[in-house]
Amino acid sequence: MRAQVLICPTITLRAYGHLCHTPRRLYRYGSSSQFLNLNLSRFSRRLLTSFFHMEFQSGAGSSGKKSMVENLKRYGVISSKRVAQVMEHLDRGLFVPAGSSAYVDTPVPIGYNATISAPHMHATCLQLLEDKLQPGMRALDVGSGTGYLTGCFALMVGAEGRVVGVDHIPELVDMSIKNIEKSVAASLLTKGSLSLHVGDGRKGWQEFAPYDAIHVGAAASEIPQPLLDQLKPGGRMVIPLGTYFQELKVIDKSEDGSIKAHTETSVRYVPLTSREEQLGGF
Ligand code: SAH
Repeated sequence: MRAQVLICPTITLRAYGHLCHTPRRLYRYGSSSQFLNLNLSRFSRRLLTSFFHMEFQSGAGSSGKKSMVENLKRYGVISSKRVAQVMEHLDRGLFVPAGSSAYVDTPVPIGYNATISAPHMHATCLQLLEDKLQPGMRALDVGSGTGYLTGCFALMVGAEGRVVGVDHIPELVDMSIKNIEKSVAASLLTKGSLSLHVGDGRKGWQEFAPYDAIHVGAAASEIPQPLLDQLKPGGRMVIPLGTYFQELKVIDKSEDGSIKAHTETSVRYVPLTSREEQLGGF
């Protein structure tokens, strides 16, 4: 096996500067396209966050999109057909700023001290929420940013479902609407099963609650109570928790309303915070 384990300052800076997620499997594959799969303890994974970077050297356009999904499948990040289909169908290229690498597995800055998450992070969250993104179901995407994941949710629940994206930066919400309008999810926006709003996502979005699926795309120090309240019994929330060291938590609400939580992996997200704090220094 030819694999590269990189300890590289450039990559370190990129990982932290763009705020990315630590994959469960850490690897960078070499020209042989083989990879090193390290089963590390959570502690080791945290320590190594900055030293590893997963990158897909995919081509442009539809071939880039296809090979991005193929790689995510090969490395076990995508395990279901529906997640593969939606990520192939909704073109990430329409959601990243012009000139950025759309299909490379890295977060990309989108302005306003925010990033579009890396493809493996989108795939991880889609996998975790897949059962709660069945046709007709309801989903809330807090910190919707570019609208990419919100669009994936909308395509999965379809015209009979309801998906709401909330971000507190009005310019990002405008941009996300424009992105969706150019995409295969455009008709869901016009038909009203998908909407994107400006708001403080820590309050959720009461109008269409309760939700089968809630995704939070920014890290909270604790789970905002309104989000727990707006989660349907039987529903699932995926939320990064923590400040410097963060963990992706999966919160399941049972039919009797009791809550069970488990940690999926270590991550690094932008904070779920106030608009003023996020824009400080921007
Ligand atoms: N998941 C998105 C964006 C992730 S970046 C994507 O991949 O495109 C996190 C986003 O959370 C940013 O857009 C930021 O503006 C937003 N955010 C942070 N705190 C927020 C809050 N309190 N309410 C709503 N959005 C918030």
